[in-house]
Amino acid sequence: MTMIYLIFFISGLITGSFFNVCIYRLPRKESVVFPPSRCPLCQTRLTPRDLVPLFSYLWLKGCCRYCQGRISWRYPAVELLTGLLFMMLYAHFGFNLWLVKYLILTCLLMIISFIDLEHYFIPDQLILLMLGTGILLNFFTRELPIPSILWGMLVLAGTLFLLAALSKGGMGGGDIKLAGAAGLFLGWPQSLLALFLAGFLGGIFSLILLIFQLKKRKDPLPFAPFLSGGIILTVFFGQALLKWYFSL
Ligand SMILES: [Zn+2]
Repeated sequence: MTMIYLIFFISGLITGSFFNVCIYRLPRKESVVFPPSRCPLCQTRLTPRDLVPLFSYLWLKGCCRYCQGRISWRYPAVELLTGLLFMMLYAHFGFNLWLVKYLILTCLLMIISFIDLEHYFIPDQLILLMLGTGILLNFFTRELPIPSILWGMLVLAGTLFLLAALSKGGMGGGDIKLAGAAGLFLGWPQSLLALFLAGFLGGIFSLILLIFQLKKRKDPLPFAPFLSGGIILTVFFGQALLKWYFSL
């Protein structure tokens, strides 16, 4: 029984390692399948022993084997986080079509969040992929009725559009498109909850950054990681939170 959790965790680690390739190459308009992985610092071709998810980083104490340069914490973090999320999604949904739907959503959100964190933009092809798979998967799972999907998309994208118009540049077009695509996956009222949680996470994080003077008030903050955080929390705790809220 625990074996299957381990299998999901390891699949997540390996998938996370591929996400790292996507996060590095997609914004640079490079192919994600060719050429094989290189050190981002010295460009040396990496061998299989350098590419064991999580463990290569730990074993080499976060440095490149060839140039001794510091490798970003992003690499092990993405792998570990993906491993944990894969395992938790299986624990939450069991083995069915819903698991597939939320695995795909989580995968796309991971890649998008970490690209936004580094480059402050979201590639359109990932949002199109999210829209396409969202429509297809909802057709097969029949989880959400059409009005619920439309409301979900409208509330999420509409709110961010308003915020973008009011803040004049605080929120990007990519954030609005991402919110719309996520609304398709979540429907109503889960979308509204995701938006609240995203705002809450963003607020707390901004406050911490300001208190410790890690960023100035005017510095831009990518929103996709917070939106993704809100969405993933909703996937896991949405039903329980909404039930609790409506019981008040
Ligand atoms: Zn190197």
